[in-house]
Amino acid sequence: MKKILLLGTGGTIASVQGENGLAPGLDVAALPDFVPAVTSLCRVETLSVCSIDSTSITPGHWQLMVRAIEEHYEDFDGFVLCHGTDTLAYTAAALSYMIQNADKPIVLTGSQKPINLDVTDARTNLEDSFRYALSEGSRGVSIVFGGKVIAGTRARKERAKSFNAFSSLNFPYPAVVQDGRVVRYFEEARPAGRVRFFHELCERVCVLKLTPGLSPHILPPLFAGCDGIVLESFGVGGLPDYLFPTFQKLMHEQGQDKLVVMATQVPREGSDMTIYEVGRLAKSDGQLLEAYDMTLEAVITKLMWLLGCRDMDMDERRALFYQTINHDILFCPPRP
Ligand code: ASP
Repeated sequence: MKKILLLGTGGTIASVQGENGLAPGLDVAALPDFVPAVTSLCRVETLSVCSIDSTSITPGHWQLMVRAIEEHYEDFDGFVLCHGTDTLAYTAAALSYMIQNADKPIVLTGSQKPINLDVTDARTNLEDSFRYALSEGSRGVSIVFGGKVIAGTRARKERAKSFNAFSSLNFPYPAVVQDGRVVRYFEEARPAGRVRFFHELCERVCVLKLTPGLSPHILPPLFAGCDGIVLESFGVGGLPDYLFPTFQKLMHEQGQDKLVVMATQVPREGSDMTIYEVGRLAKSDGQLLEAYDMTLEAVITKLMWLLGCRDMDMDERRALFYQTINHDILFCPPRP
């Protein structure tokens, strides 16, 4: 019988009603009792990593999750990690970079309603996650939620309340789970090398959402305080003319030592900065990276991971930004 480690981090799935509203209160050890079908399919052991609302998740928690999986990697056939939905997409992306070449499934799930309610999506999501983790060919980091399997770097929480909260952006669903049956749409390739765990993350990464007329005075403190900067622009990506001189000066002075990425506020189809002059001019110095079809969650966590890799210089990091990891980017620009 396969062995699965169920990791708890809190979230709605393990929450109970308290004086001030919902808050995590159920120990992860109590969760298997809510999905009795699972205990006849595999052996389940549980481990609590933390017990928090995922609003409060930090890179430090991702490090704890990675350590827990690494320490138990050889002893289990797969991992199911329960997590709040609010930052689930960030955690799935972060774990995709921090655990690479995994030949075992690492499945993240959660729910919109606590598991101890009569009407809840929690029991189905948890059972589906186990069924996917136990299914032949499942490997790497993914989310199972609302009957869908989503690659760890492609998820977005698109609905705040409905059970079908998560979508896959710019990438197909690898599989669905229907009435307890895994229907796989494509096979996950076996990793070429051994599993690799990364522990260092740089937290000096931030996102600036551009809004019409934004003051250029915002930019210098951003460059002073951050090593990774994501500019969330409009449409296929471009820099407003009123920000251009300040941006160009900062990139000239500091761009070499930073990872600066242009992304788009439009959730689907991604950027293409070759189309408009406002895009081409912004990229003309060669240092500015572009998100293309990546999700914002993936861009942010990839920068944190790349900047945390100490054995690389900035040019290597810029090149690796465009290398596909767990399906995060399809479009790769031609090498210069
Ligand atoms: N605030 C909760 C959390 O992210 C929401 C949820 O789990 O659905 O922990």
